[in-house]
Amino acid sequence: VLKDNTVITVAGASGDLAKKKTFPALFGLYNNGFLPEGIRIVGYARTKMDEEDYHKRVSQYIKTPIPAMKQKLEEFLKICTYVSGQYDQDDGFEALEKELKKCEESYKDKEAPKNRVFYMALPPSVFTVVAANFKKHNYSEGGINRIIVEKPFGKDLESSREMQVGLKKEWKEEEIFRIDHYLGKEMVKNLLVLRFANVMLDASFNKNLISNVQITFKEPFGTEGRGGYFDEFGIIRDVMQNHLLQVLSILTMERPVSFSAEDIRDEKVKVLRYIPEIKPEDVLLGQYVAKDDKPGYLDDETVPKGSICPTFAACVVHINSPRWEGVPFILKAGKALNEQKAEVRIQYKDVTQGIFKEITRNELVIRVQPNEAVYLKMNSKAPGLAMRTVPTEMDLTYKRRFSDLKIPEAYEALILDAFKGDHSNFVRDDELDIAWKIFTPLLHWIDNEKPKPAPYPYGSRNAEGFDEFLKTKVGYQRSEAPYTWPSTSVL
Ligand code: NAP
Ligand code: NAP
Repeated sequence: VLKDNTVITVAGASGDLAKKKTFPALFGLYNNGFLPEGIRIVGYARTKMDEEDYHKRVSQYIKTPIPAMKQKLEEFLKICTYVSGQYDQDDGFEALEKELKKCEESYKDKEAPKNRVFYMALPPSVFTVVAANFKKHNYSEGGINRIIVEKPFGKDLESSREMQVGLKKEWKEEEIFRIDHYLGKEMVKNLLVLRFANVMLDASFNKNLISNVQITFKEPFGTEGRGGYFDEFGIIRDVMQNHLLQVLSILTMERPVSFSAEDIRDEKVKVLRYIPEIKPEDVLLGQYVAKDDKPGYLDDETVPKGSICPTFAACVVHINSPRWEGVPFILKAGKALNEQKAEVRIQYKDVTQGIFKEITRNELVIRVQPNEAVYLKMNSKAPGLAMRTVPTEMDLTYKRRFSDLKIPEAYEALILDAFKGDHSNFVRDDELDIAWKIFTPLLHWIDNEKPKPAPYPYGSRNAEGFDEFLKTKVGYQRSEAPYTWPSTSVL
């Protein structure tokens, strides 16, 4: 655990991620007293800025609803300094080293080891060179060093391996913290508890009782001017190969021996190894088009003309393990859809027919965002003199059940874990490798064959053909009896 004597360097401190996520998360932790005593935060990037400009940028997305927080923010800004320098030249990193040493002069115990955390809020093009320069110029001898890195970790298996080799030349695996921010989300962290601390859920998680599982990510907006970045990657690389696959692995892994990072990650890797590569016939691709005043993907000026980049994808994934063989898992992600949501929907098999006809299947829904909730859709007798069944729910709505607790931001949780040296919620090298193995053949097929994605109007529920795809490929059954949830008032 990093206690005192720690400096965190944020590389790419002038960028979007730093201002929207990293600094607000660091402030959140600082405000609640979770950062090491005497922590200093040094920004590094090429942009030249004076302290005032820099502090404006650092605090741009930090909310201070109460006066005490405003005061804390002023204190926080005092520990935030900035050094401007290039990413590939020694003198910038030498100037950074001077600043780090200056920060360290303020430590009470001058003899104690000096710990350094390096946070890479940088595009992948400069990532390896910066990691190497940090090692060369800024590595603390005798102290703890950690490097936090951000996706994208390559574009396919080969480029990911190249990047890992570059990083591993300088940094040990135990020093590396690869962020997949889904692993910092409260509900994703709850998956372990839901599964393994509830005997009836754990017992039902298998091919005998479960018909199919959907893991969904939906966004109600398109690229909106960030198409250049997105087009290089597409929705599968952006969301599915990382975030959704992470959720899948935690949802389906076997019980770990302990809560230790390596025990958890061993089980995740093991279940991923049971997944064969995804075949093109098991995939539905889509791209949004204009609807009313909303532009289509190709109308975004930052998107290359005629791009076939998918903004929607649904993939059927199989896990050939004794527990899951034959259960289709569908990963679905899309931009410019009808709503914002990330959820897991586990549909159980039909109940024995006979006394019941066309009765709704049980569904366990785990909503990751927004409005975290876990609900089990179950049949009940409609109260009254007649014998009639009605779909109802057992419902854990966080806002109601945990109304007085604040749900931490994913980045706060992850940065704190990195400070603690807990790797449980970070991606291990072999895990990354296997995740790419599952998707790379499909991604290469898309890159080479250029299949035309199905167009869908901005704001649709899904890409055209999805409901049919779901029914025929996966056997999902939508309940005939309309299901309505009465308690919307709490949200
Ligand atoms: P960004 O704003 O484009 O880049 C961060 C900083 O890097 C810029 O301020 C710029 O600083 C420098 N930079 C940009 N392009 C460069 C180039 N071609 N060559 C050298 N330096 C360059 O990126 P970001 O959105 O903050 O994202 C940083 C990393 O986090 C990326 O890998 C991204 O995929 C990942 N990420 C971002 C988000 C998000 O919400 N933005 C979410 C998850 C992951 P200077 O010009 O001052 O040096
Ligand atoms: P549902 O109506 O059975 O919908 C299940 C899923 O089917 C939807 O998520 C939707 O997914 C898809 N769908 C929607 N309309 C469809 C159509 N016409 N044809 C085919 N598929 C369709 O039930 P639900 O979504 O589980 O619950 C209904 C509402 O109640 C939701 O808004 C839910 O958030 C809310 N609810 C909230 C809580 C809580 O917060 N605690 C508890 C229970 C229910 P896609 O659009 O992704 O395909």
